[in-house]
Amino acid sequence: MATDLAASKITPGVLDAIFNDPERRATDFPVPVCQCVQIKPLASQGNGAERYRVVLSDTKNFVQSMLATGANHFIHDQKLKKGSLVRLKQFQANALKGKRILVIMDIDVLAEFGEPDKIGDPQALKVKDEEEDVKPAPGAVSGAGFYGNKPAQQPAQAQQSLPSRTGPSSSAAHGNIYPIEALSPYAHKWTIKARVSNKSEIRTWHKQSGEGKLFSVNLLDESGEIKATGFNEQCDQLYDLFQEGSVYYISSPCRVQLAKKQFTNLPNDYELTFDRETQVEKAEDQENVPQVRFNFTNIANLQTVEKDTTIDIIGVLKEVADVTQIVSKSTSKPYDKRELTLVDDSDFSVRLTIWGKTAVSFDAQPESIVAFKGAKVSDFGGRSLSLLSSGSMSLDPDIQEAHKLRGWYDTHGRSNTFASHSGMASAGAAGGRQDPVMTVAKVYEDNLGTTESTDYFSTKATIVYIKQENFAYPACISDGCNKKVTDMGDGTWRCEKCDVNHPKPEYRYIMSLNVNDHTGQLWLSCFDDVGRLIMGMSADQLMSLKDSDDPAAGRAFEEANCKTMLFKCRAKMDSFQDQQRVRYQVTGASPVNYANEAQKLAELIKLYNI
Ligand SMILES: [Zn+2]
Repeated sequence: MATDLAASKITPGVLDAIFNDPERRATDFPVPVCQCVQIKPLASQGNGAERYRVVLSDTKNFVQSMLATGANHFIHDQKLKKGSLVRLKQFQANALKGKRILVIMDIDVLAEFGEPDKIGDPQALKVKDEEEDVKPAPGAVSGAGFYGNKPAQQPAQAQQSLPSRTGPSSSAAHGNIYPIEALSPYAHKWTIKARVSNKSEIRTWHKQSGEGKLFSVNLLDESGEIKATGFNEQCDQLYDLFQEGSVYYISSPCRVQLAKKQFTNLPNDYELTFDRETQVEKAEDQENVPQVRFNFTNIANLQTVEKDTTIDIIGVLKEVADVTQIVSKSTSKPYDKRELTLVDDSDFSVRLTIWGKTAVSFDAQPESIVAFKGAKVSDFGGRSLSLLSSGSMSLDPDIQEAHKLRGWYDTHGRSNTFASHSGMASAGAAGGRQDPVMTVAKVYEDNLGTTESTDYFSTKATIVYIKQENFAYPACISDGCNKKVTDMGDGTWRCEKCDVNHPKPEYRYIMSLNVNDHTGQLWLSCFDDVGRLIMGMSADQLMSLKDSDDPAAGRAFEEANCKTMLFKCRAKMDSFQDQQRVRYQVTGASPVNYANEAQKLAELIKLYNI
């Protein structure tokens, strides 16, 4: 039944259309949905790049496809699984070593259909006779608008998917536009339309073997970014043509090779080297290619951002420290670093470290406005930032946020005092540990509680099951003693520790909860105080309810179920009957503060550049 529903969602015949009749694909199958019938990691390509091969089926045919690295997160997050239904949002049909392969840049996983077994009996796709000059068919579909993604960029995508357009316009000459993510050494005859996001100085070298010069540009489109380098003649030819911020058509022949990761700050597996024949033309139409965009997090809100998140930040330069050197532990090489202090109108300050040449050549005056793209959040000293090698810095950028900060700083910012995150951290340390908030999956992933030491974390999760057997134990009623007492059978309860027989015990909770979030499920154990909070009554009350009206006790458990709470937990290795297992003990729980949570989520969503 569920499988029938899933089957009705798939687009039979779409794979054939993608490879053999791209125009029909665009008209008849605007939103392709396929089933993922296999996922395999590819052997490492020697440059540390992680690649996944995915077999897609439209129930009639199947094809091999390759997930662009930008889409690897679907696998890391366990969203894309064998059996998943996927809506193809951006893809490229390519020739790869004589085989046809679909490069997938972006998808939606239709999680509501689960992971049904292989639907239908798909056959390997037959591709029409290979002509030397078969035009690959870029695809980008309006499916991107399904969840409100980047609607402003739709017109550009629609144009890309119609390579057959005719007409004398300049862009018609570039009908066969590839997204940057689809470039590979196996792609022939391509044109990209990209904005120069960064242009280097000309660098020269002198060696025994000779001398030379080079420059490079980073090229950006909505699928990704790639570095391109021009040596010697091409350096002369192209250096002046490229302007930072402008959009260009760049057409093969142009060498695509594995990126030399040590010289680049981009995540692309490949990079370009301009050839004598490479065509570079400034686009008349400078629109429809993303600008370098910032998504600023204000400094006060850094507290709500998880460690290791990459963010953009803008602030007034309050202090500039001198360059110092540290020696890298892994390479034993010295690194230059410089620490900056930034402030903004949230009345907070934060330290940001810049590295290498950026640190040495930094000469912005205090009180300048600086914007950083790609700074990593660390929890060192509360919250601090480190500019990634792929990050960039803009001094006094001509953007609205910068003008706003300037105005604020000149009117009252200059005389402000600023709170720092390190101040907050020490206050926090005095008041108790700062337990990182993490998802259930992250708790497992980080192997919390599997080492000698005890780990602490917080998690926001929903109770889905409360074990009703042994939810409480009879405890000693002596002051400060919570030991379990034994029913002596003569109407008294004995505490061994206090060496006393009491007329009655006090029941205390010792509960097992199964809690879930969107990433997984976890068993938590909790003691009396948390049990009271969850059940809304004492264990004594619940126990007497159970004795007098068992169905009512059942209803109390039902009512407590499905509550969403913030659990503070301790993870620790536990030995039980020769078996070692991690035990997650709740040390405190509180109901979700929806206003706070909503604000945190809003900050997180902002980071997705939507
Ligand atoms: Zn006792």
